[in-house]
Amino acid sequence: MKEDALTIPYYDILIIGAGPIGLATALEAQQAGLSYLIVEKGCLVNSLYHYPLNMTFFSTADRLEIGGIPFASIHSKPNRAEAMEYYRRVADTRKLNMHLFEEVNGMEPQGDLYRISTSKGAYLARNVVVAVGFYGKPNVLHIPGEELEKVRHYYFDPHFYYRQKVVVVGANNSAADAALETWRKGAEVTLVVRQPELGSIKYWTKPDLENRIKAGEITCYFSSSLTEVREREVDIETPEGKLTLANDFVLAMTGYQPDFSFLERLGVALLPDEKCHPQYDPETMETNLPNVYLAGVICGGLDTHVWFIENSREHAVKIVQHIVHVQKAAEV
Ligand code: FAD
Repeated sequence: MKEDALTIPYYDILIIGAGPIGLATALEAQQAGLSYLIVEKGCLVNSLYHYPLNMTFFSTADRLEIGGIPFASIHSKPNRAEAMEYYRRVADTRKLNMHLFEEVNGMEPQGDLYRISTSKGAYLARNVVVAVGFYGKPNVLHIPGEELEKVRHYYFDPHFYYRQKVVVVGANNSAADAALETWRKGAEVTLVVRQPELGSIKYWTKPDLENRIKAGEITCYFSSSLTEVREREVDIETPEGKLTLANDFVLAMTGYQPDFSFLERLGVALLPDEKCHPQYDPETMETNLPNVYLAGVICGGLDTHVWFIENSREHAVKIVQHIVHVQKAAEV
């Protein structure tokens, strides 16, 4: 780390976000001998920390590895606790340089560097890697009553819902897991699915849910929408007309989206398509801003099912290779 005249810390790379892909980028930078800092607004792997307590990854452990550091799991697919253990161990063994609980607020060019401002200070960096994921912003339903405390966009633990009347909204993995887990721990569960059938659900979970629905243990309304939430009941629009059900909690498992306003604040352009894909060169991951790169799931815009840990680990390699290449070219 060097310091400029104003004693603002300087790094070759400032990485925004300590998710798996931000960490992967730090490992590559370290290996290339570049100075770097990760700035993370929450805890280490903050998104994974907020995943459901009992979640199991669909990937095998080797596909969640970063920097070639082995990830051993006692299961065929690791769970949330094992993943957090793994990424903590990676950060410790490689002594990764990071500031946790510090949010990046903005960035502006300063000469041929960027000045990055955070909730706790400022940094100068030649290169910036934006690896901010999409888990911080739920897709809202835009219905009356959504602001009530009983409506949750994040599901954590089933015990809380014991003997409660729970409506789960959604058709994919998160909805399936929340419906099955809460039902198994004593909740009365109604699933509301906008489409005429269930969506893409892990192959070992889908038959379980289908059988619970067939047996009438979980009530499911297909081609239906939740239209209003009140303190003690909800309205559901079904093909047969409007239903009003007694209700204690709503789990709106309707997905998440990138914080586009953050990208705009940084100056990263979005393509004029309906999925709001951020603009970047897939060969180098560089955005419309010179020396500013995108990494990880943020690259998909509203297509949040395109990039995962397993297929976006490679962004880290591409970015650092490009930075080293540019640096060498400048030295010639
Ligand atoms: P994230 O992990 O989301 O990290 C982004 C980080 O940036 C966060 O820690 C966030 O707090 C931080 N941040 C955001 N804004 C700021 C800011 N302004 N300043 C500072 N920090 C900021 N993928 C797989 O490959 N296999 C699986 O089996 C799998 N299972 C999944 C199961 C579930 C339930 C979910 C939701 C996802 C799953 N995924 C899986 C997807 C995977 O978790 C994501 O692809 C992965 O977390 C992406 O990593 P990332 O580093 O790009 O983003």
